[in-house]
Amino acid sequence: MNIRKNILLANFTTWKVGGPAKWLAEPSSIEEIKELINWANKEKIKCYIIGAGSNLLINDSLWEGLIISMKKLQGSKIDKKSGIVEGFAGEPLPTLSRKVARAGLHGLEWAVGIPGTIGGAAVMNAGAQGDCTAEKLDSIKVISLTNGKEFKITNKELKFSYRKSLLQEENWLVISARFKLKPGFDEQVLNEITNKNLQRRLATQPYHLPSCGSVFRNPKNQKAGEIIEKLGLKGFKIGGAEISKTHANFIVNSNNATANDIYKLILHIQKEVKMKHGILLHTEVKQIGFEFPTNLKIS
Ligand SMILES: Cc1cc2nc3c(=O)[nH]c(=O)nc-3n(C[C@H](O)[C@H](O)[C@H](O)COP(=O)(O)OP(=O)(O)OC[C@H]3O[C@@H](n4cnc5c(N)ncnc54)[C@H](O)[C@@H]3O)c2cc1C
Repeated sequence: MNIRKNILLANFTTWKVGGPAKWLAEPSSIEEIKELINWANKEKIKCYIIGAGSNLLINDSLWEGLIISMKKLQGSKIDKKSGIVEGFAGEPLPTLSRKVARAGLHGLEWAVGIPGTIGGAAVMNAGAQGDCTAEKLDSIKVISLTNGKEFKITNKELKFSYRKSLLQEENWLVISARFKLKPGFDEQVLNEITNKNLQRRLATQPYHLPSCGSVFRNPKNQKAGEIIEKLGLKGFKIGGAEISKTHANFIVNSNNATANDIYKLILHIQKEVKMKHGILLHTEVKQIGFEFPTNLKIS
């Protein structure tokens, strides 16, 4: 087991913020993962799983536990005939999107610009352009962090909804996911659609700066980004954290932001929106070492 000590988590998040973890491991096999879980349970050390850290705000102070980074558990099997695709949790979603398009499988062209892993996509039910992971996923394999047991869960059992899944409530580590895609499509056409999707995102979202994508969930029938933009908050800064001038639902790390800068900016937006519209914007991003309000009273 290769477990490293006092590792800076800013290098494991797309926001490029986060303090050190007391322990960190980057397993590249299922056996290693099981050993890590057994070790953590025996030593009574708490465990947190991260994928690409593209939807995660990690506090600047020491995290007293074991972080299991899944980025090294990569690879996928693609059956061109049936459209069945099985990928390990650490495989980047854009890589999978490209691979299946090249195999003539239709269904993941929207995923090319989402810089997470397959495991993170299942947990978050990541999606774009009206499509989402839940629509294509058949089942996943997980290991329980409580007892180290491995088992399979079907799509239906995962209780998917908008950016939500049962995985956000359970103490499970996703090791792989099985997708059902549509076979027999023209690979060139799929590649063109995939390229166009990426171009559109690059033109409308601040991909050149560290971010975590959309910070807030969209309230029913409304867009969080539009609400924030209409309040004139684009470009508003706290420390090195800034509400993107390109897309108001993005907070970018424009100048050596700390996690605390980003956290304060999130709270500021929530207060402004609550004051002017009476709505509490709920965060889409997950957090380590922070609590986001679930209720906000403005006096
Ligand atoms: C520029 C940019 C654009 C984005 N655009 C979109 C978009 O269009 N649509 C969208 O839905 N999201 C978008 N995102 C957000 C993000 O990429 C997705 O939420 C993604 O699915 C997160 O995957 P991840 O591997 O980075 O997960 P992480 O951020 O590492 O983790 C997210 C959550 O999943 C859990 N987790 C991750 N992997 C595992 C695992 N193997 N087992 C158990 N738990 C796990 C973590 O504990 C955490 O709770 C964007 C982000 C960026 C930076």
